Amino acid sequence: YEQQITVLGLGAMGSALALSFLKVSLKTHVWNRTVDRPGVRKVVEHGGKFKETIASALEASSLIVICLYDYYSIYAALANTFEQAFRSKTIVNLTNGTPSEARAMSSWMHGRGVSHYFDGGIMNTPEQVGTPYAFAFISGEDEKAFDKISRPLNSIGRLDYLGLEPGAAGLYDSALLAGMYGLFGGTLSAIALLRSQPSNDSSKAPTSKVVADKLIPMLQALLPSLVETAEYFDKQDWRGHTANIGIQEGGLRNVLATCQAEEVDSRLLRAHHELLVRALMEGREMEGMAGLVRDLVKK
Ligand code: NDP
Repeated sequence: YEQQITVLGLGAMGSALALSFLKVSLKTHVWNRTVDRPGVRKVVEHGGKFKETIASALEASSLIVICLYDYYSIYAALANTFEQAFRSKTIVNLTNGTPSEARAMSSWMHGRGVSHYFDGGIMNTPEQVGTPYAFAFISGEDEKAFDKISRPLNSIGRLDYLGLEPGAAGLYDSALLAGMYGLFGGTLSAIALLRSQPSNDSSKAPTSKVVADKLIPMLQALLPSLVETAEYFDKQDWRGHTANIGIQEGGLRNVLATCQAEEVDSRLLRAHHELLVRALMEGREMEGMAGLVRDLVKK
């Protein structure tokens, strides 16, 4: 197993990754485009070896972790690097991107002679790196090659290997983020509605308290039903077992009416309502939520 590792990119996430490697005593070489950055200072203070050029950073280890802003930054950063620098390297790219960017990067890297290219998605904040909350999806290459990188890399958090296809991690990452943004969108709308409680009422609870004491417990109680929705989708069972589309549309219609009365922008909720209305117009009011997924799938 590797005793040394190189990290390219010392932004918020890259520096958290480098610190987690240093914590388990891996010799950690680092490079960042801009030297004068808090991440660079912190990692060097903790024993990271700063490399002046990206070529010398690549040369320092055979295992390279990349965590830059986006895929464009990676191509830009590596543009003038000789192919020699890539030969026989194992690259683990944890920059956020799409499955097609991952597949293109995998071909680009293999074309430059890297021995293994893994693409990954980190599913936590930099502060959570190295805690039980941290996990990353990893894909590309076979399980044997993954086993070799899993020992040095598991200081980051749990690694969830998804197989040979380099785009798999990006797909899981995007799917989980889609769920997260749905939750964020709903919560932003909830806070906007709550702020319009009458302000001259001294008993008015702070919005944060309503979110903590009422919204979160309600969402937590609902979470297991998400598994059922996916199970019904897998079984192509479109029946509305609990709340059907008819009930859902009525509920969301009332939310939109309340938003309008309270002068709250409901754009984050309207797309969902449109989907429900369209299903109703097709006479599908007795279907469940899994039925709506069909409407989202284009092929
Ligand atoms: P930061 O903005 O903190 O850091 C961005 C990094 O990219 C810096 O090292 C920056 O270098 C570098 N960079 C940007 N453009 C270029 C370029 N053209 N050439 C070379 N280097 C470049 O971002 P994060 O560290 O937070 O995020 C890094 C990746 O991790 C992103 O893909 C992000 O989506 C992902 N991620 C982040 C999470 C988070 O909560 N922060 C959570 C999960 C994933 P310089 O210092 O020189 O500007």
